[in-house]
Amino acid sequence: MGKRLTGKPVSKAIYRAVKEDISSLGVEAKLVVLFIGDDPSARFYVRNLENRGAKVGIVVETRHFSGDITHQSLLSIISELNTDSTVHGIMLQKPLPSQIDEDEIVLSIAPGKDMDGFHPLNMGRLVLDQEGFLPSTPAAVIEMMRHYEIAVAGKHVVVLGRSAVVGKPLANLLLRKSNVGNATVTVCHSHTENLAAITRTADILVAAIGKARFVTPDMIREGAVVIDVGVNEINDGDRGTIYVGDVDFVGCEEKASAITPVPGGVGTVTTALLLRNVCLALKKSMGLA
Ligand code: NAP
Repeated sequence: MGKRLTGKPVSKAIYRAVKEDISSLGVEAKLVVLFIGDDPSARFYVRNLENRGAKVGIVVETRHFSGDITHQSLLSIISELNTDSTVHGIMLQKPLPSQIDEDEIVLSIAPGKDMDGFHPLNMGRLVLDQEGFLPSTPAAVIEMMRHYEIAVAGKHVVVLGRSAVVGKPLANLLLRKSNVGNATVTVCHSHTENLAAITRTADILVAAIGKARFVTPDMIREGAVVIDVGVNEINDGDRGTIYVGDVDFVGCEEKASAITPVPGGVGTVTTALLLRNVCLALKKSMGLA
């Protein structure tokens, strides 16, 4: 039976460090969240972020806009926030309505306030092994590995999924010449042939494809480490709506040496890392990082 790698101890340690840092600086850090429309899951996420921020000394200010806001208005708002010295970070809450050109909006956010780490400058820094703001989800996978002392160097890590949000940045982080890096990385996607034959060669398998319980026990090697990034809403009969990962947890837990649960795994760490980015932005604004 694999060891369960839960996210709570990891996020707790990050929150503690952020709180200590902010209180030692004696300055208020502020994150502005741009929230368009009324998606219920997004609303829930933002409320949680506000509460978490308050606990560590970061003001999370949500600016709520109706779903018909124009692209130009959003650009003007971001332009003002970019020059507002009381704002240390900006986050764009998804989903975005169709009239918004996401690429252009991300590009308009000052790279020093880009808390999602999606600006091409921050992505470029990530690939080039330079310091910048890391996207929270791939960074959460790295923090889980660091916390649980998973040996990564020289290991074969198979990443399922090549999105700009998870798979691609994660693969690059795993390639970094760092202590949670130096891996041999294979990235798989929907055009990959003989997928199961590849996943069975993984010392560490990371699933980020958005397909409920896609990874079955026959797809993993005995003793592999399995990290599940997926969050999928499914209807589970009498239990109603539940959230499951991209991995068939019950089956794979038997075979893996360690495995992350969903919920309670990687997802638990992402908000903590977003707030850590805000803390870093504050320090940078003070010339301390
Ligand atoms: P995405 O943008 O939809 O990307 C999915 C990736 O999986 C794509 O690269 C796609 O290949 C690949 N894929 C899809 N079906 C496949 C298949 N049958 N075989 C092999 N590869 C396949 O999703 P995402 O944003 O990266 O998110 C992935 C999962 O992580 C989702 O469940 C999402 O909810 C979850 N997530 C969790 C967090 C968190 O905080 N815990 C944050 C973000 C995302 P192509 O490129 O060829 O289409």
